[in-house]
Amino acid sequence: MRHFDYFVIGGGSGGIASARRAASYGKKVGIAEKKYWGGTCVNFGCVPKKIMWNVASMSESLSHCKHFGFENKGEINFSWNTVKTCRDAYIKRLNKIYKQNLKNAQITFFDEYASFDEYDSLYDKDGYTIKLSDEEGDIHYVTATHVLIASGGKPSLLNVPGEEYTINSDGFFKLKSQPKKVALIGSGYISVELAGVLNSLGTETHMFVRGNMALRKFDSLLKEELDQFMKNQGIKIHPYSIIKKIEKNFESNESTIFLKNGKIHSDFDCIIVAIGRDPEISFNIEKVGIKKLQDTNFIKVDEYQNTSVENIYALGDVCGLIELTPMAIAAGRRLADRLFGGILSAKVSYDNVPTVIFSHPPIATIGLTEDEAISKFGKENIIIYSNVSVNLYYAIFDMNPSDKPKCSMKMICLKPREKVIGLHIIGMGADEMMQGFGVAIKMGATKADMDNCIAIHPTASEEVVTMTPWGLSGSQLP
Ligand SMILES: Cc1cc2nc3c(=O)[nH]c(=O)nc-3n(C[C@H](O)[C@H](O)[C@H](O)COP(=O)(O)OP(=O)(O)OC[C@H]3O[C@@H](n4cnc5c(N)ncnc54)[C@H](O)[C@@H]3O)c2cc1C
Repeated sequence: MRHFDYFVIGGGSGGIASARRAASYGKKVGIAEKKYWGGTCVNFGCVPKKIMWNVASMSESLSHCKHFGFENKGEINFSWNTVKTCRDAYIKRLNKIYKQNLKNAQITFFDEYASFDEYDSLYDKDGYTIKLSDEEGDIHYVTATHVLIASGGKPSLLNVPGEEYTINSDGFFKLKSQPKKVALIGSGYISVELAGVLNSLGTETHMFVRGNMALRKFDSLLKEELDQFMKNQGIKIHPYSIIKKIEKNFESNESTIFLKNGKIHSDFDCIIVAIGRDPEISFNIEKVGIKKLQDTNFIKVDEYQNTSVENIYALGDVCGLIELTPMAIAAGRRLADRLFGGILSAKVSYDNVPTVIFSHPPIATIGLTEDEAISKFGKENIIIYSNVSVNLYYAIFDMNPSDKPKCSMKMICLKPREKVIGLHIIGMGADEMMQGFGVAIKMGATKADMDNCIAIHPTASEEVVTMTPWGLSGSQLP
C-alpha cells in the first residue's frame, strides 16, 4: 500500500492549491479526483460562467454600436454551438494543465473516487486508510498521515414532483442549443447570473424567487437596483414563488410550472434550478467520526480547517463558510503552510472577503450590509455615504439622460473614525473595481483614507474616493 504524508480528496480549487503547496515543502502528496480536474470553478462554475458573461456583454456591446457611430448593415447571427465548442475546448485545455501542474509538482494523482473504507479507515500506525475506486469498480488502497477533504458541493435539489424535467447549473453548461424560453428557479447569484446571460442573448427569461426579489442576503441597494435593471432588461421576475410541481408535455417538449399560490406558468423549453448548493460528502465520512455543522451536512471545522477528527482537515465548499474559489485556494495554501511549512499560526481570514456577481451590470461587494452593520453596531454608530453616477461610456448615447444606466454605490462606515466596514457597488466596471478597494478595507481604511487617494479621472471607480462630502469625514475634522 502506498503511503502519503498528505492525501487530498477532491481535485478542485482548494484541493489542488493545498496539494501543490504541501508538495512545495517536499512532502509526499497524493490527490484523487473522481471526475473533472479543476473542480467546479473550472468545469461548471467561474470559468465557463465568465465566458458566457463575456458572450452576453458582447451581445450588449453590439446593440450599443449605433450610439458610437457604427452602422451595422448586415445581419449578425449568434451561434450557441460555436461558443460551446470553443468553451469546452478551452476547459479541456485547463483540465490538462491542472494535471500537468500536479505532475510538475511531483504529486501522485488518481483519477478515482476516494472514500473512507466501510470497514477500516481509522487512524493506526500507517495513518488513515483511503479506498480508491475507478469507474470499472477496481479498488485499491492508500494510507496517509494527514487527509484533506476538499470535495466541494453539488446543486441542491428542489424536491418536487417533475424535478426530472429540470436541469441545474451543471446542465446549463451542457446545453447544446440556446433555450427559447427559460425559467430560473432560485434567487441566489447563480440564478441571477444565468438569467442575465440568457436574457442578453435573446432567450425569454423568467425568474422564480421565494421572496420579493433576488439576492435576499445582499445589501438593499444592490438587490433593489438589480431588480430594476433586470426588469428594465425584460427579465420577468415572479416574486413569492414556491414551486409545487413541474409537468412536461412530451409532444411539444415544453414544461409547465405550478406554484403553491395557484399560479401556472407554461411553455418553458428549459427550466434551471439554482436554489443553492449542498456539500459533497458521500464517501463514508461518518466512518472516521467527522462531525457536521448543526442541522446541515456541511463539515464542521475550526478556524484552522481542523475537523473534529485529528489529522483530517476540510475546506472550501464542503464547509459552506464562504463558497468562492479564491477562498478555497487561500484556505488550502494556508493549511499546507501550517502543517508542512512550519508557519504554525497560518490560517485564512474569512472577514471582509470581496466578491463580484456577474450580473448585467455587475455587482461588487465587501463587508457588512447596512442591516448587518446596524444590528451589530447600532444605527447611531454608523454613517452611510452613497453615490449615483452615469458611466462616461453612456455619454454620447442617443437617449434621455434619465434613462441612462446608473452606477450606484454605498459605503458603510463605523464612527467615530469612520472605518469602512462595507462597500457595495452595482454598475458598469464594478467587477474590476473592488479588488484594490478590498486591500484598503482589509487594512482598515477609513473614509478619510479613501478621500486622501486622489481620484483617477475619468473612471467609474473615482466615485468611490470622492463621495460627498469629500474630505470632511469624522476623522478629518478637528
Ligand atoms: C455556476 C457557478 C458559478 C460560480 N462562479 C464563481 C465565481 O465567479 N467566483 C468564485 O470565486 N466562485 C464561483 N463559484 C464557486 C466556486 O466554483 C467554488 O466555490 C469552488 O469551486 C470551491 O472549491 P472546492 O475546492 O471547495 O470544491 P470544487 O472546486 O467543487 O472541487 C471539489 C472536487 O472534488 C471532487 N470530489 C468530490 N468527492 C470526491 C471523492 N469522493 N473522490 C474524489 N473526488 C471527489 C469533485 O469532483 C470536484 O472536482 C461558482 C460556482 C458555480 C456552481
